[in-house]
Amino acid sequence: MKIRIKINFCPGELSKDHPLFEENFNCVERFVALPGENVVCWRCNGAGAHVNPAIDGNGISPEEFHEDPDFAESYFGGVYDITCEECNGDRVVGQANEKAFSQGDREIYKQHLDYLEADRQIRAEHAAEIRAGA
Ligand SMILES: [Zn+2]
Repeated sequence: MKIRIKINFCPGELSKDHPLFEENFNCVERFVALPGENVVCWRCNGAGAHVNPAIDGNGISPEEFHEDPDFAESYFGGVYDITCEECNGDRVVGQANEKAFSQGDREIYKQHLDYLEADRQIRAEHAAEIRAGA
């Protein structure tokens, strides 16, 4: 089965015979149909919603809940919940099945993985700069 997965790639870096090739070297984010299946969303565990990261993105200590029971009640009661940022409330996300990929699928997915890795490194460097007080 094919599912739609959000892929980051650069159309101009694909092989010229790839269906998604374009003379365009700006990287794009697009939904691409790839072999795979829908799996329960890792972000919200299938709930379709999670607490707003603006509230608990840096973590909340047990002391904070203890000192502010009203906050704790609201927090666990779902007051700060937002629609899941990963699945957009669908409760499932597409997961590619790389074993079923065609050569073209592999080519585009490799770019996507490279993009994710580069993105992860940039974030890690940024976080290190903040820790160093830059
Ligand atoms: Zn989700």
